Amino acid sequence: MTPLAAAGPVLFLMGLCVGSFLNVVIARVPEGRSIVSPGSACPRCATPIAWYDNIPLLSFAFLRARCRKCGEPISWRYPVVELITGFLFVWALADRGLTLDLIPALLLVTGLVAITGIDLDHQLIPDAISLPGIAVGIVASAVTVYEESLRLFPDQAHATILFARALGRVGRTEDAEVTLARAHSLIRPGTGEAALLDRVTAEVMGPRAPTQARAALERYVARLRALPEPTRAEKADLIDAERQLAVLVGGVR
Ligand SMILES: [Zn+2]
Repeated sequence: MTPLAAAGPVLFLMGLCVGSFLNVVIARVPEGRSIVSPGSACPRCATPIAWYDNIPLLSFAFLRARCRKCGEPISWRYPVVELITGFLFVWALADRGLTLDLIPALLLVTGLVAITGIDLDHQLIPDAISLPGIAVGIVASAVTVYEESLRLFPDQAHATILFARALGRVGRTEDAEVTLARAHSLIRPGTGEAALLDRVTAEVMGPRAPTQARAALERYVARLRALPEPTRAEKADLIDAERQLAVLVGGVR
């Protein structure tokens, strides 16, 4: 079973439970009542509803849609909201997959079910739900734009470093330095790109700033030496970098 298929039933159960909570939200938020306490009670006899009579779908079926104590009919609305939310959660999963994008989708579904229920009852959309919804929407779309830009430029740091190297090789050293500084803000320390940045920094800065170039090259050599199983290319690179370092050290002294 794929992770996505395994997540289906989980999301459905989550949706049922969220739907159960949304029934409380739909009934209480328009009246300005707390959605936390008191717990649910029968609207006629006011008997608190025990946890085992409050299980999504199942309790409604077992109680045959009636209050255990006084027999007051329970609205069909409760299991319908639970089912709809369960199905919408599975739909969101099918649409977004197991990605970060699923979270705003679930929040959107949750908010929309609550808003729909309240709007049907009272012809109003409470600020308490719509205003946080706007905030979630802005954050979610910012995340999406960021992810999209990473998809378009999967290796921005790498491309920037190579651009700096090219600038350095055609003698535009100052432009190369500016580009290196920009690359520096793009890379994460400890990655292969950080190492490449050290390598290119040493190459570009060598004649102008030997101390800085030497520090970068020393980091690079140390990283290559620490590799548990260097490839043939990495071994050759290490010999090359050590030779350059020897030249730089000689120059600095
Ligand atoms: Zn009752």
